[in-house]
Parts: sequence; C-alpha cells; structure tokens
Amino acid sequence: MGSIQVVYGKIVENIKTCKKCGLWKERTNAVPGEGSLDAEIMFIGEAPGREEDVHGRPFVGRAGELLDKFLGEIELQRKDVYITNILKCHPPGNRDPKQEEIEQCLPYLKEQMRVINPSLIVTLGRFATSSLLVQKTTQVLKISQVRGKLFELKEKIVIPTYHPAAALYNPSLQGTLEKDFRKIKSIVTGGATKKQNLLERFLKKPGKT
Ligand code: URA
Ligand code: SF4
Repeated sequence: MGSIQVVYGKIVENIKTCKKCGLWKERTNAVPGEGSLDAEIMFIGEAPGREEDVHGRPFVGRAGELLDKFLGEIELQRKDVYITNILKCHPPGNRDPKQEEIEQCLPYLKEQMRVINPSLIVTLGRFATSSLLVQKTTQVLKISQVRGKLFELKEKIVIPTYHPAAALYNPSLQGTLEKDFRKIKSIVTGGATKKQNLLERFLKKPGKT
C-alpha cells in the first residue's frame, strides 16, 4: 500500500471512532466519505442522513440518487470523484449542523482535502459552502447568490451549488443544478486536466463566473 492509502486509512479510522462532538452518541455509523483517492473533484455535502447513518456511506438515500443522476449527465460515476460531508455523523432528525459540531469535525475534512488533493471542490448547499468559505454558520452565505461562481481556497477551486435534497423539495432547482454540473465538467475537461493548467486558467478571477 502506498503512503496515501495508509494516511487515508488512518483518517477513516479516526472518524469511525471519533467522540469529539456529541453526535457520536446517536450514530449507528460514522460516514467518512468514499470515492477515488486520485479524484480531481471532491463533492462536499452537509451531514449524513438516516440512510447514510445506517449504511456508513455518503449520499445513498434519495438525495444521493439525484446526485448520481447529475453526475451521470456529465458522464461521471461515483468512483471517479470523492464524496463526503462537512459532518461525518448524522444529526438527529436531520436538524441543521451546530457551529461547534462543524468546528470539531472540520479538521477531518481538511485532512481529506490535503491527502486527496482535488483541484475542484463542489460544495452542496449553504452549510457546506459557508463552512468552507467563511467558516461560520452565523454568516451563512446565500446559496442563491454564490452558486455557480468560482472561489479560491488553498490553491483549489471551490464551486458552490444547491444541495440535491433542495431539488427534491423544489424540482425547479434541478435545471440550475444541471447547469452548475455542466460548468464543473467544463472546468475539468477542455485540455485543463493537469492541475496546474486548471488552476492557472480558472483562478485568475476567483468569484467570477
Ligand atoms: N445529505 C447530505 O448532505 N449528505 C449525505 O450524505 C446525504 C444526504
Ligand atoms: Fe466526531 Fe465529526 Fe462525528 Fe462529531 S460529527 S463525533 S466531530 S466525526
């Protein structure tokens, strides 16, 4: 096993046994995330739902079906990308994440970002977006104002979009999500497969569409 696998395995083990915030008490399984450790694209959701808690895997419920559909439309499969969440444990009743839970859990995500080193990060919904871009849910960004725009974070591109679950409740958002996914596809294709090219091409104007 290469060192990336070893380091990644340790992160997963630490998440599975973590008791840093109160959410460990009610979880069935922590949900570290899954996908390719070579992924160019990392998707970050909010927190595991009930189904995810049961299976220990991200996005396996209805929102996950929709995520798979959007990925399929841009000719990607789960195994091509890496999928995880801001919180690794299921908040009871699917309540919103608390600021202190995010603060306790975020170091795991940062380690995953460092080890997997994607060039593009897609934040799904306002909590994932705010946690990465402003790090305070008291300053929750309006997802409708930032979605589809490019931001820079530690030499990576961040593109926020709606959470797929939002499109379950409000199907009119599906078209916007599809548009954002096409943009994701265009960023990682078009000859910019090498990370450096990609960063040079797209990070000149962070925050611009
Ligand atoms: N919603 C999320 O944010 N993450 C999941 O893994 C499932 C549903
Ligand atoms: Fe640990 Fe994160 Fe789970 Fe809280 S949500 S117990 S910080 S892994």
